[in-house]
Amino acid sequence: MDLYKENQLKIYNSLSKSKELFKPITDGRVGMYVCGPTVYSNVHLGNIRTFMSFDMVFRYLLHLGYKVRYVRNITDAGHLENDADEGEDRIAKKARLEQIEPMEVVQRYTVDFHTVAAKYNFLPPSIEPTATGHIVEQIEMIKKIMDKGLAYEVNGSVYFDVLAYNKENHYGILSGRNIEDAIHNTRALDGQSEKRNPQDFALWKKADDRHIMRWPSPWSDGFPGWHLECSVMSSKYLGDQFDIHGGGMDLKFPHHECEIAQSHTCSGVQPVNYWMHANMLLLNGQKMAKSTGNYVLPDDILTGNNEVLPKAFGVGVVRFFIMQAHYRSVLDFSGEALLASEKGFNRLMEAVDYLADITPGNSSDFNVAEWKQKCYDAMNDDFNTPILIAHLFEAVKFINQLKDKKATISSADLTLLTNSLHAFVFDILGLVNDAKEQSSDKLGGVVDLLIKLRKEARDNKDWDLSDQIRDELAALGIQLKDGREGTSFTIN
Ligand code: AMP
Ligand code: ZN
Repeated sequence: MDLYKENQLKIYNSLSKSKELFKPITDGRVGMYVCGPTVYSNVHLGNIRTFMSFDMVFRYLLHLGYKVRYVRNITDAGHLENDADEGEDRIAKKARLEQIEPMEVVQRYTVDFHTVAAKYNFLPPSIEPTATGHIVEQIEMIKKIMDKGLAYEVNGSVYFDVLAYNKENHYGILSGRNIEDAIHNTRALDGQSEKRNPQDFALWKKADDRHIMRWPSPWSDGFPGWHLECSVMSSKYLGDQFDIHGGGMDLKFPHHECEIAQSHTCSGVQPVNYWMHANMLLLNGQKMAKSTGNYVLPDDILTGNNEVLPKAFGVGVVRFFIMQAHYRSVLDFSGEALLASEKGFNRLMEAVDYLADITPGNSSDFNVAEWKQKCYDAMNDDFNTPILIAHLFEAVKFINQLKDKKATISSADLTLLTNSLHAFVFDILGLVNDAKEQSSDKLGGVVDLLIKLRKEARDNKDWDLSDQIRDELAALGIQLKDGREGTSFTIN
C-alpha cells in the first residue's frame, strides 16, 4: 500500500539546517546514496551505528511503499591515512604491513563487513559499487572538471581549484565553513606542496614507485582522490540530482563538501536534495575510532569478549540500544547501558510474544488507531525512533493489563495492534527476537550436558541413574533417542 501518500515525512536537511517536508524527485521513488566503509580493517560498532541509522531510514521508506534504490559504496582505493591528501593509502599500508596483496585486504574486510551486516540484520543495499570498479568513470569526471577550468595538473597529479570554484559558487554551503576565513587561518604552503592553495584537494594523485595500487591515466600512473568516487558512483546510479545522501557527521567536511563541489561543477545543479548526517557513537566520552584504539567490535558484543562488557548480548538488544537514541544525537556506549537496554528489549519481546495468546473480547480499553498514528507521527518527524519506542511501551503496558485480565480488546483491534506492533518492531526498527533463541540455545546446552552425564553413568553401568535422566527429561517433554552416531534429542 502507498502509505507515503498519507504520511507527511519530514527530514532534517543538513544543507538548510532545518526539517523539511520530504518530496522525492519522482513520485513514489527514492534514490539514496550512503558513503560505505573503507575496507582496510574490521568495521567497529561506531561504523555500525551509522549504517544502522540508514538501514532504519531505508526500512521506513520501504514500509511507506516507496520504491527505493539504495546505493552504498565500498571504498577500496584512494582513502589516505589522514583523511586529507597526504600519507599512504589505508589499504596499501595494511597490505604492506601484512605482506599480502591490496585486493586480499579488500576481500577480507569486505567479507567481514557483509558478515557483520547480515548478523546485525541490515537489509542489503540495491547496489554496492566499488571505487576500483569505477576508475574509468573517475578519469572521465576529472577531464570534465578540467574542461570547466576548475582543476589543474602539477607533476602528474590533478587538484580541484577551490578558490576558482568559490568565485561563482559557495564552497562551504554544507558545512557552513567560510573559505575566506579558512584561508586566513591556514598557514601558507611551504613551497613543498603542489597545491596552489591549501584548500584545494586531489582528484588524481601520481603514484610514487612504492605505491602498488595504481592505474594509467592521461596525467600519470596513479590513483583517484577519495572524494571523487562518491560523486562518480552517485551520479552514475542515481543521476545528477537525487533525493537523499547520507553518511556520518564526520564526513560532512571535507568529504561531502568536496563531493558537492565536484558534482556541481560537472552538472551545474545541486546534486542532493536532502543531506542526512548520523551522529557519533562514543566510548569513554570519545568518538569510537580504530585509529585511537577506542573501539568495540560488533562481534565482541555477541561473544562478551571485551573488558567493557559484563556479558554477551544479542543483536536485538544492540539494535534496541542504538534505536533508543535519535540518529542525530551522540550516543554513549557502555556495558551498563546495554544491560539497561536488555531489560527494556526483553519486556518488549515478552509483550509481542504474549499478544499471540490473547483472546479478544467485545470492546477495547485502548485506542489502537490513535496509538498507531502516534507511532507514525514519531517516525514522520525526522525518524524519531526514541519517541516511537516510548509509544511502543504504552502498548506493552496495555498488553500486560490484558495479560492480568484487567483490560479487554476487540478482535479487530487485536489484529490492528498485532500487525502494527510487528511492523514497527521488526520491519522498521529491524529488531530480532533472539531472546527466545538464546534461551533455547541454553536449554540445548543443558540437555547436551545431561546426555554426557547419562553416557558416563552407562559406561559405569549405573543403569538406575541413566534411566532416571532419560525418564525425567521425558516427563519434561524432552525425548532422548539413542542411535549409532550417539544420542540426540527432541523438545516437544
Ligand atoms: P570509514 O570506514 O572510516 O569511511 O567510516 C564509515 C562510516 O562510519 C562513515 O559514515 C563514518 O562517518 C562512520 N563512523 C566512523 N566512526 C564513527 C563513530 N564513532 N560513530 C558513528 N559513526 C562513525
Ligand atoms: Zn562518500
